[in-house]
This record gives sequence, structure tokens and C-alpha cells, in this order.
Amino acid sequence: MNDETKTVDLAGIGLGPFNLSLAALADGIPDLSAAFFERSPTVSWHAGLTFSDAVLQTSPLKDLVTPVCPTNRWSFLNYLVENGRFYDFMAARFETVSRQEFSDYLAWAADGLSSTHLDAGVEDIDFTGNQFRLRFKDRPDCYSRALAIGTGREPLIPANVVTGPDCFHASQYLHMHPDIAGRRVAVIGGGQSGAEIVLHLLQQDDRMSPDSLSWISRRDGFWTLQEGGLVDQFFTPDYLESYRSMTPELQARALSSQKFASDGLTPSTADAIYRLLYQRRHLRNREDVFLYPGREVVQVQANGRGQTIVSRASNDRREALEADIVILATGYRAAVPGCLRRLAGRLAQEPDGALALGDNYRALWDGPSENPIYGLNHGRRSYGVIDPQLSMAAWRSAVILNDVTGRRAYGLGETERQPMVAWEPRAETLGWEPRMTGS
Ligand SMILES: Cc1cc2nc3c(=O)[nH]c(=O)nc-3n(C[C@H](O)[C@H](O)[C@H](O)COP(=O)(O)OP(=O)(O)OC[C@H]3O[C@@H](n4cnc5c(N)ncnc54)[C@H](O)[C@@H]3O)c2cc1C
Repeated sequence: MNDETKTVDLAGIGLGPFNLSLAALADGIPDLSAAFFERSPTVSWHAGLTFSDAVLQTSPLKDLVTPVCPTNRWSFLNYLVENGRFYDFMAARFETVSRQEFSDYLAWAADGLSSTHLDAGVEDIDFTGNQFRLRFKDRPDCYSRALAIGTGREPLIPANVVTGPDCFHASQYLHMHPDIAGRRVAVIGGGQSGAEIVLHLLQQDDRMSPDSLSWISRRDGFWTLQEGGLVDQFFTPDYLESYRSMTPELQARALSSQKFASDGLTPSTADAIYRLLYQRRHLRNREDVFLYPGREVVQVQANGRGQTIVSRASNDRREALEADIVILATGYRAAVPGCLRRLAGRLAQEPDGALALGDNYRALWDGPSENPIYGLNHGRRSYGVIDPQLSMAAWRSAVILNDVTGRRAYGLGETERQPMVAWEPRAETLGWEPRMTGS
């Protein structure tokens, strides 16, 4: 597309892994023109949390393309081969892949794809009646028949928390370079990001170590991820189909019961933390790490000497804690990006701020159906616990590409054979009646 104004079939906003998957699979469809725009000058995946020992929670085979088209050139395996490291990688016998390497894979795909445009933040989108017009700060407008919103989720800052250099969101951790040596540090949030930061702080040598470390979690314990082949059945197209057919009440129940299938601590991170805690307490006689589960932080306020953290326990008792540095590993929230503000009144939203999605990941809006707006990473409520995960990214891209081309650009074979798990009662069992046996 270069610098000329152009009209395309599909324009993607944001180049995280989800729109990158769409771009990689669109690359195999010759009669579909597409352009994808990323505001950053490089693709780097959650750079503020890319610790050297942080690993993927999912298999690298669930990459941008492999689950639906393993012969597509933008696979993780091809990245290894093209970069001359396949044999070295195999010899390392990694159980999983580092996030650093996966981020490098994503950047390799973004650099290689001709439809991607970096340093190209979309400032504004309007609808002309039969197409969308995308505006940028310093490049020509782009016109498109369809949109793919892949701008990710936004850091969630709890109410009554004022951020600043000494109180910031975990997504900024490695960018902030906080001076932690000899200071009181509090990490708020008992999920994987909180755990990785706690581990990083515990790994500091004595010279760089905080004076004290408090880990506060709203969860009633430090729960690890539920894993295994049977749990992974939730991360399949079959289950997604079943989830889509549930009533909203059943969906809410399913989301809550499956929470730790997708949102717990990686067991290796949890074990590493525990072993360091053991060594610290029993072999080095240091009593300077404090774990506070079951507390919801309701306020963080600077007090002149540091920060006061006020939390509330499940029995409603309040507690106050002092810290110098507060790191908010409080997760992310769905949000409609600012560039869609002109269309916001025409788009339906979920109570959590996500775009409300109908079939084929189409956002519900009052415009013509020939002009779909696809929502990626907006479907936690409407598509289930799997939606914010990499597991189904390629499958979702295939669904979207089939929809936008109006034909079967990619087979979705996984859903076309007998599923391993019968999620729904089968119709024929309805007529079953108990038969008396014996005399
Ligand atoms: C630390 C961390 C680790 C994770 N690890 C895993 C894992 O191991 N396995 C797993 O399944 N899931 C994991 N996840 C969850 C999920 O896979 C990721 O959050 C994933 O990055 C979501 O992809 P995305 O494309 O929706 O958004 P993002 O990766 O957030 O990308 C959105 C992109 O849009 C760009 N953008 C925003 N607005 C504009 C605009 N107006 N114009 C142009 N560009 C714009 C942003 O700059 C950004 O690059 C992890 C999440 C985090 C936070």
C-alpha cells in the first residue's frame, strides 16, 4: 500500500498476535486485499513484562496459522527454519517457548508480510455509507469495506488508585526500572503477571533486593493454572460451539467455573516462587516477604513517606499497609479504541465495555451487513474463556476470513467430525426410557 491512498477489502487496526494471525492467513488468499496498521514502530509482545525466563502458557504450535493451515509460511516452525535455528531449537528440548522468542517470531511475521504497516496509528474512523475511512497523523487515508479491531485490552487500574512513578501498572514494569533496592515493595494481583514480578523481585541479589515485599491478591489463594488434556477440551472449536449455544446465565456459570483453566499461575512460576520463599525463610533467616490473599485493594494513596494501601477482606475488615513502590498487576479491561469514537453510538457494547459480538465475530452495529466490523479479543462474554487466548486465534481468523470473502477460504475441519467430548445431550437420548430388567 505504501504511501498512496488505497481502498482495500479488509483493514485491521492493531498488530498484536490476533490481527497478525488474520494478516498471515489473509496472505494466502489472492483475491482479498488487506491492510493492517500498528501504531508502534516495531511489534513487540507485552514488552514491559518480557522477562528472560517468562514462557508461553500455550503451545507454540498454536501460532498465527498452524491450527488451520500448517503449510502457511508464517508458522512458528518456518520462523525457526528461516532463521537457521530449527536443529538448535530441537536440541534444547524446551518444554515450551520463551515469550521473548515468541515475540521475535511475531515481529518476523509482521516484518515479512506485505499487508502490514508499522508506525501507523489509526487516529479516526468514519463510515461513508458503503466503506470505512481510516485517518492517520501523517499518512494518506485508507478506505476499506470491512474492519478488524485488534487493538487489545487496556491496563485495568482499580478505582481510587492514583498512578505515578511509584505506583504503576505491571504492563510498564520493565520500562519503569523502579529503584527497589532497600525499599518496601507491594505487588497487587495474584495472577500470572503478579507472580512473574514477585519472582523477579525475589531473584534480585542482596544488593538490589527490596527491604520488604508484600504480595496482595483478591483471590483467596495463589491458584495455579488447571492443565491437562481433559481441561484443554475447553480450548477447542467444539466447546466454543457449545458455549455459543448456551443461555447468558449458563455462559456466566461456565466462565466462572473455568476461570483457572485460563487465568492461573503457571505451575513452574508458582514452584519457583515457593522454593525461593523457603530458602529465604529457612536457610537465610529472612522474614521480609509477606503474602496477603483474600484482600481486595480499595485505595492506594501517597502519604508523604510512601503509599498507603487500603484493602478489604471477604469478612469486610479493612487493613492498611505501607509501601514505597506499588505495582498494579491488576489485569486488563476490554475497551473500544478511541479511533472508533465516531461510530461508538452505532455499536452495541457488553457491560464490561467490550464490543458486543454476533456470529462470525461481527460486532453488532446498525450499519449495512456488507460492511462488517470484526472484534478480536472482545468475546470473553460472547465466545467464552478461550477468546483472549492464543489457542483459538488462527481458528477465529479463519472464521473471519471465510465470512469476509463469503466463501470457504479455510476449512474448519476440527468442527466437522465427531467431537471427543459430548458437551450437549444428544437428541436421540431424549426418547430413552428405563427398561425393567430381572424377574
Ligand atoms: C504478559 C502477558 C502474557 C500472555 N501470555 C499468553 C500466553 O502465553 N498464551 C496465551 O494464550 N495468551 C497469553 N496472553 C493473553 C493474550 O494472548 C495476549 O494478551 C495477546 O497479546 C492479545 O492479543 P491482541 O492482538 O488482542 O492485543 P495486543 O497484543 O495488546 O496488541 C494490540 C496492538 O494494537 C495496537 N494499537 C492499539 N490502538 C491502535 C491504533 N489506534 N492504531 C494502530 N495500532 C493500535 C497496540 O499498539 C498493540 O500493538 C498474555 C497476556 C499478557 C498480558
